[in-house]
Amino acid sequence: AKNEGRNCFKYFSERLTHAARERIEIEYRLRLGIEKNQLRVYYQPQLEIATGKIIGAEALVRWQTDQGELIPPVRFIPIAEETGLITLIGNWVLKETCRQGKQWLDAGLPALRLAVNVSSHQLMHSDLCEVVRTSLAETGFPAHSLELELTESALMKREKEAIEILNNLHALGVHLAIDDFGTGYSSLAYLKLFPLDILKIDKSFIDDIPMAIDDMEITATIIAMAKTLRMKVIAEGVETAEQLAFLAERKCDFYQGYYTSKPLPANEFEDFIKQHPSS
Ligand code: C2E
Ligand code: CA
Ligand code: CA
Ligand code: CA
Repeated sequence: AKNEGRNCFKYFSERLTHAARERIEIEYRLRLGIEKNQLRVYYQPQLEIATGKIIGAEALVRWQTDQGELIPPVRFIPIAEETGLITLIGNWVLKETCRQGKQWLDAGLPALRLAVNVSSHQLMHSDLCEVVRTSLAETGFPAHSLELELTESALMKREKEAIEILNNLHALGVHLAIDDFGTGYSSLAYLKLFPLDILKIDKSFIDDIPMAIDDMEITATIIAMAKTLRMKVIAEGVETAEQLAFLAERKCDFYQGYYTSKPLPANEFEDFIKQHPSS
């Protein structure tokens, strides 16, 4: 038994060392990757539930290494958030999405709204408003076609500052969405403080529909609550016809999910738009 404890400790410390080493290595390789232009933006279609029309897309970053390996955000976004590298990444995604959106408009594709994720670090420790303003000005992408997704936790960190920043962003004409809704502790009264246009129901509430009665009730309540605040509602992570039918019945406005499409590279998203009705 004595030995077991020792082995356990040894195992644990080796694991820690490995995790720490991997973290440092990923950060180093990520910095290089950014310099070498290895980030890619994928686009996941967002559709109107009542009509099935495509209304826009969420921009999601990927990291493509020299070896052609596609690294998903779970493997580098948390690290980038800790080191502040997320601001560099986020600003790049924003500009690239605006550039791509303008190119699609110029090519005669229907006007779609493109949603970009904003991390709490980016919101609080960078001049986000100025970055958004210049991204729009330099690319010519219209402000009303851009949506920013902010997480509940980011807004809760420093409430007064967040309200002011959001008001400034709203004044530019961009749409504002609250992401991952339901995973934090926001109340209805709290949401009213922010100029939010769209509420995004977190995937975790959608996953077990129609099995989990609780999740269905929570989802229905969130939709009704958003309506009283005159916000549009979008559900993420929709994978089945049953989930979509439930959301339609509850009058959820929009959805995105594997049921219709995974996030796609720009050229495949372009094909997707051409094959689907849009508003
Ligand atoms: P998120 O903002 O909640 O984005 C939704 C995630 O759910 C995406 O994962 C998307 O691919 C996935 N998803 C959508 N529909 C389905 C579905 O039907 N089934 C399943 N299993 N998954 C679905 P992804 O692209 O791996 O991104 C993960 C997270 O990384 C994002 O979660 C977001 O928090 C972060 N992220 C991605 N790109 C950016 C970025 O440019 N900036 C920042 N700050 N964060 C980003
Ligand atoms: Ca998001
Ligand atoms: Ca989510
Ligand atoms: Ca998330």
